[in-house]
Amino acid sequence: MPASSDIRDIMSTLDYGPSPESATPALDWLATHEQGFGLWIGGQWRDGSSHFDSLNPSNGQRLAAITQAQTGDVDQAVQAAEAALPAWTALGPGGRSRVLYAIARTLQRHSRLLAVLETLDNGKAIRESRDIDIPLAIRHFYHHAGWALRLATEFPKHRALGVVGQIVPWNFPLLMLAWKIAPALACGNTVVFKPAEQTSLTALLFAELCTEAGVPPGVINIVTGDGAVGQAIAQHPRLRKIAFTGSTEVGREIRKATAGSGKKLSLELGGKSPFIVFADADLDAAVEGIVDSIWFNQGQVCCAGSRLLVHEGTAERLLAKLRARMALLRIGDPLDKSIDMGPLIDRTQWQRVSGYVERARAEGAVITQAELGALAAGDNHCYYPPTLVTSVETSSEIVSDEVFGPVLVVQTFRTPAEAVELANHTRFGLAASLWSESIGLTLDVAPKLKAGVVWINTANAFDAACGFGGVKESGFGREGGREGLIEYLGPDATPATQHDMPAASEVPLRTPDAIDRTAKLYVGGAQTRPDGGYSVRAETGDTTWPATPLGNRKDIRNAVEAARKATGWERQSAHGRAQVLYYLAENTQAHAERLIATLTPFAGDARARLELQCSVDRLLAFAAAADKFEGRVHQPPGNVVVMALNEPVGVIGQIAPDDWPLLGMVSLLAPAIAMGNRVVLVPSQRLPWIAADWVQVLETSDIPAGVVNLVTGQRDELAPVLAAHADVDSLWCLDAAPELATQLERLSAINLKRTWIDRADNSAWADADWAEPDHFLRQATQVKNVWVPYGV
Ligand code: NDP
Repeated sequence: MPASSDIRDIMSTLDYGPSPESATPALDWLATHEQGFGLWIGGQWRDGSSHFDSLNPSNGQRLAAITQAQTGDVDQAVQAAEAALPAWTALGPGGRSRVLYAIARTLQRHSRLLAVLETLDNGKAIRESRDIDIPLAIRHFYHHAGWALRLATEFPKHRALGVVGQIVPWNFPLLMLAWKIAPALACGNTVVFKPAEQTSLTALLFAELCTEAGVPPGVINIVTGDGAVGQAIAQHPRLRKIAFTGSTEVGREIRKATAGSGKKLSLELGGKSPFIVFADADLDAAVEGIVDSIWFNQGQVCCAGSRLLVHEGTAERLLAKLRARMALLRIGDPLDKSIDMGPLIDRTQWQRVSGYVERARAEGAVITQAELGALAAGDNHCYYPPTLVTSVETSSEIVSDEVFGPVLVVQTFRTPAEAVELANHTRFGLAASLWSESIGLTLDVAPKLKAGVVWINTANAFDAACGFGGVKESGFGREGGREGLIEYLGPDATPATQHDMPAASEVPLRTPDAIDRTAKLYVGGAQTRPDGGYSVRAETGDTTWPATPLGNRKDIRNAVEAARKATGWERQSAHGRAQVLYYLAENTQAHAERLIATLTPFAGDARARLELQCSVDRLLAFAAAADKFEGRVHQPPGNVVVMALNEPVGVIGQIAPDDWPLLGMVSLLAPAIAMGNRVVLVPSQRLPWIAADWVQVLETSDIPAGVVNLVTGQRDELAPVLAAHADVDSLWCLDAAPELATQLERLSAINLKRTWIDRADNSAWADADWAEPDHFLRQATQVKNVWVPYGV
């Protein structure tokens, strides 16, 4: 055959040859440990009594025996972390920064070993572990080495929490470790960390590398094992914070297990993220985006774009391109450098994914899958093909559940408004990806999506400087960036008693002037009668107050419904909200004498005047902050800007403190509404009358109906209703008794709402330092990171 035809032949059959990465260095490292590992506690290995195998998902071979930690081991790890804390604190920001920097350098020196070990243990393509997981993990340590130095400047009056517990899943083993450990250490905490039982190996190699990097013994402790170890961490009484990534079900368990413990909690949970393709999108780019979004890491990604929402008129063209691209995906041995997809993590996950797809098929969905060929041999293989599911009902489980595999479900829409509606029609709210050539359209849609991260014309982009995390049942709290750091810090100052005021109960009470008035609830901008038809007269000592309504469960539900409907408030400009708050301050001042008259019999004249003045000051402080507590722009590596937007949380339930009836109420309401939230507030049970008085101020201050709702009644009865309500996004109660705190946090697990439940010192309310606006405004907002790539 002539040479030219040879070349033609070669060109027409052009295919990848095998390009294997050697497993030898990783296997040699396992051999140095005789394929067996103990626990890493106090800077050394501790043998365990029972073990389980870690398997290579691509061939089922045993890689090593891993220790199953016991509850006592977790306790020892906590002790080691506690013992390490004083020296770690004494090391100061400079010393801690150097250690984090050394970790980054050490990981970099061993990056290929880590990548190969990750691929052996998890099954992800070496291309991904080598080019994404490990470099990003390293970047996290570099980035946070810098934060350790900048902490005092950027977060004055904050301090480390102490010893923190961290639990991660198997999909990004080392990367999740870095997301957790780097910020914890940068803030000066010490750590007890648990990897997932399927993928402990890179965490164990990391432990060993910590010695090389000079991490003081006990600062990082690694305990391996199953969910029981996670449970022991979540329940450990001396841990100050739990950071968890994993399934929503386990996240909910951890919320319940930590209820009332005072532990800080961040939950990064599941998702069912929309990938929205508008009619004017660059379809070839969108197809590559889909590949990165749902077939990256075999779709075992919490923020995978598992729901493709495509414009009706574009769907056929996009799906034709997508099917052609699917056929080109290379599936096989993940250590081969030209492979796109490896196996799923294990056979259990395979069965779960396959179960979803087969049930969808039985319902009548059309399933398109790539061929697996010889990879599907044997009953125990873990390879699952890239899968496209069309002709599905919106109510189908495959549309609503997190499948956590390479399965893409397709739906169509006609208008951007319908796309937003479909996108938000999920209990999750982790991420979304938008594809359009119109920046105007994407920036209009991005804020309307209920998601913690929005990618515009890109997908699955991450960086240490940019926070990541969700809303709704995708959890709360952020990892990465400034907002990730605050999760590992607590307030430094014990509340100053600068006003040195006695508690209300200690002040001799005088009888109020008898006024025969019956107050009402304030719901949806109107004064309403309580559903139950009961009113009560609060009594304090020998003082009897005018009757106030006894709100019930139904009143709370009505108030939440009114708040839900008041969506215009979050679209109101920050300038507009500030004006309303200024007006509220002005009118509160104008009604000062009347309000002081109400407060005086409760607390005495001096304190009543102080309370009034502090309330006006507080309203002014939050009016001033309303248009200044803004987001930021991050510039991570690459041609991309990331807008970190402070968005309102939604509907916030608030239980006002008993002892500062007016000041407590405005201190909670003002930051919430300043940031665009709507509020259902239960006023002080000891002086509910103040709410009736202040309603007259509210009614004249231009607050739109439904933004503020006041339901007087028994806090022990009303607070649990708010905590359990699925349409309440967050619950604040800063003077909760321990039993109530436990009850409220447990109930909040129902829809995984954020909680801010504390036991503030009684004198703190009048202290402007304690009520420093940013502290409150952070609780009133959640950060949405919007990624906008650029370039020609
Ligand atoms: P889990 O949420 O069960 O596990 C995550 C981590 O939590 C693991 O380290 C696990 O330990 C630990 N854990 C398990 N039970 C408890 C408990 N009661 N208290 C404290 N910690 C616990 O995820 P799975 O690995 O079991 O995966 C199940 C499903 O969850 C997947 O199919 C997927 O749908 C979803 N998932 C979602 C993730 C996400 O990021 N959104 C990540 C992983 C899974 P152990 O390793 O022993 O299981």
